[in-house]
Amino acid sequence: MKTGRFAPSPTGRMHLGNLFTALLSWLSVRKAGGRWILRIEDLDPQRSRMEYARQIEDDLDWLGLSWDEGGVDGSGSHGPYCQSMRHDIYAGALDSLVATGLTYPCYCRRADILATQAPHQSDGRVIYAGTCRPRHLPVSGLADSGRPASTRICVPDEEIGFVDGVFGRRTANLTQECGDFVLRRADGAWAYQLAVVVDDAMMGVTEVVRGCDLLLSTAQQLYLYRLSGWTAPDYAHVPLLCNAAGQRLSKRDMSLNMAQLRTRFTPGQIIGRLAALAGLISGPESCRADELVGIFDWNRVPAVPSVIVE
Ligand code: GLU
Repeated sequence: MKTGRFAPSPTGRMHLGNLFTALLSWLSVRKAGGRWILRIEDLDPQRSRMEYARQIEDDLDWLGLSWDEGGVDGSGSHGPYCQSMRHDIYAGALDSLVATGLTYPCYCRRADILATQAPHQSDGRVIYAGTCRPRHLPVSGLADSGRPASTRICVPDEEIGFVDGVFGRRTANLTQECGDFVLRRADGAWAYQLAVVVDDAMMGVTEVVRGCDLLLSTAQQLYLYRLSGWTAPDYAHVPLLCNAAGQRLSKRDMSLNMAQLRTRFTPGQIIGRLAALAGLISGPESCRADELVGIFDWNRVPAVPSVIVE
């Protein structure tokens, strides 16, 4: 059965871009008669708040995007559905990855890593230079030196390819894109890359829909699927919504967040606007989400990195 999920981080009120992702994932699943999971990605304890998670639920309800499993109260057989409650599951998965001999403790601080960056690395991406990578692999277990260390995984120098539902064939070489990446931080926090793979695999997710800012993460995640022996889902990355100034919408910027939108528009007007941006209808006329199920088609979604909304 097709299983999709919406995996918001409860770090603020949702904006139109978050809703765009939610709507397209929901439509794709509903069209296939599948199951839609709401997973709360509250890995960052400093920024995540349960009240935001409750607002996300309320906003999805208001828009008519119903979920079959998950949410804060976590009904369903694959819970818990809040990442903050899944520590033991991530620990088990990390043990299996450590057993591959490809992980190692890393003592570099962020400042050290930035200091080793090539000057052309101007897009904010950080490529780990492998400072702590052991000379000989595989590594047997993680030696405990008593110092706090993050856990990194060695990446291969090869192209990892996949076919994205919107952007088509993509390939990435992890050595060039990010270098060995972190699975668990030195403060014990789980890295997004590990948690998202474990959760999607354990929850039986077959289709991941998310913003195209995460396109580059997909190869890292496919690599973890491969090492863990799990079947990877299909991926569809959707354009990011930007404001009139061309900046990507953010939860910090109040203009197009749900608190504002709900005072100015009906659910139908918001759904209609998103459906027009997705190429599903020609103009932003008001409609309900369930009215779009029949016409939903990934081929209509524009394969562009961003779309401006006024
Ligand atoms: N939690 C991420 C976000 O809110 C989404 C991660 C994903 O869908 O893989 O942007």
